Amino acid sequence: MTLFGPELQTTITMLYPTNPNFTQLLESFGEFLEQEIMPTAKKIDEGIFPRENLGKLFTHGFTSMAFPKQYGGQGLPYPVYIAAVEMLGMTCASTGVSAAIHGTSCTGIAFYGSEEQKTKYLKPLIQGEKLAAFALTEPHSGSDAGDIHTRAKFQDGSYILNGKKTFITNGGEADVYFAVAKTDNGPCIFLVDRDSKGLRIGENIEKLGIRGSTWTDVFFEDCVVPGRNLLGAEGQGFEYTKHMLQIGRIAIAALAVGVAQIAFEKALSFSKERVAFGSPISQFQMTRQKLADMSTEISAARQLTFRAAWMKQSGKDFSLQASQAKLFASETAMKVSDQVIQIHGGYGYADKYDVHRHWRDARMMTIGEGTSEIMRLVISHSLLQ
Ligand SMILES: Cc1cc2nc3c(=O)[nH]c(=O)nc-3n(C[C@H](O)[C@H](O)[C@H](O)COP(=O)(O)OP(=O)(O)OC[C@H]3O[C@@H](n4cnc5c(N)ncnc54)[C@H](O)[C@@H]3O)c2cc1C
Repeated sequence: MTLFGPELQTTITMLYPTNPNFTQLLESFGEFLEQEIMPTAKKIDEGIFPRENLGKLFTHGFTSMAFPKQYGGQGLPYPVYIAAVEMLGMTCASTGVSAAIHGTSCTGIAFYGSEEQKTKYLKPLIQGEKLAAFALTEPHSGSDAGDIHTRAKFQDGSYILNGKKTFITNGGEADVYFAVAKTDNGPCIFLVDRDSKGLRIGENIEKLGIRGSTWTDVFFEDCVVPGRNLLGAEGQGFEYTKHMLQIGRIAIAALAVGVAQIAFEKALSFSKERVAFGSPISQFQMTRQKLADMSTEISAARQLTFRAAWMKQSGKDFSLQASQAKLFASETAMKVSDQVIQIHGGYGYADKYDVHRHWRDARMMTIGEGTSEIMRLVISHSLLQ
């Protein structure tokens, strides 16, 4: 199997017809993922944090792909990174979510950070020396992110943070927490080092899918953050967060396409091998209809995702397209992975065959980085403006 499959190749060639380097780079990145990351996925799904996978990914330049060269990035176009994210989704979605949220955090500094923050944080983050977490959600406010209760008070050159965050991916493993908290001037984002006084990480929260990435509460208890660790300007944190999430949604859409694609490929090959009533189940019209619908929906999800990535790369407003891609790709991943279990019959339900992992992983993607309902709100708001 090649992860950099024909449709992904066509998409990249369509976008960059005169640059064969991108195709070669992605082909070799796909080979690395297939050899090094894919074989670990079932084990990681038992709840093992993919530290080793992240290390290998970072060494292979995954996080640095789309960041500027001056901060140690490779300066590649965003759609090339998105193709890499899709392939990562095919191999291990737990590693993918952990790396994607790290990437979302990095974009925050790239856009809004001071030169000092870029040198101190962005460089080691995109080169994989440090891992990031994004701490926005609170126990009583997820979708309604404007209603956060975490507070920051400026005192003697530092901010003192108090509050509780929940559902934080990479919690306990991250070196830097991007914490959203309100001052009297409004929402802000702070870069909080793991060893900051007053930062406490809760127990890992057991979950349905994406079981390898950690997921914890994060407590700020008179947590002291140097004034220079405020990202951008006071009061702008909500605008920054919306922008970062819009970018993050393209990455989640790409992961969802990857999850749907690998699940589909398992169903396709199983349908050719499994015999019932004297013929392979792929000969039955009802199986064929499922396969045809799945492949069409995956293609559509992929194209929506790359359209959003291309618009971001072109400097256009991409919030509508990112929400459409995230909505359609995550719901497609859910539908496809459900049908894939059906095609596998009892084998799809058994742990041993590692098929239901994709359904459990896909289930997260309609919730994290904004639920499907919130995507529909953003889309309709944009249409009615
Ligand atoms: C695996 C995973 C990883 C995550 N990682 C992170 C992370 O790293 N950092 C972080 O900050 N958060 C993270 N989250 C949290 C995630 O962003 C929130 O769960 C999500 O935004 C929804 O918030 P909530 O869970 O509080 O649900 P709520 O906002 O309470 O929503 C409950 C239900 O009501 C619906 N709803 C809410 N408002 C409306 C409305 N106006 N109209 C219609 N329907 C509505 C929602 O769509 C949902 O179906 C993660 C979540 C998951 C599942």
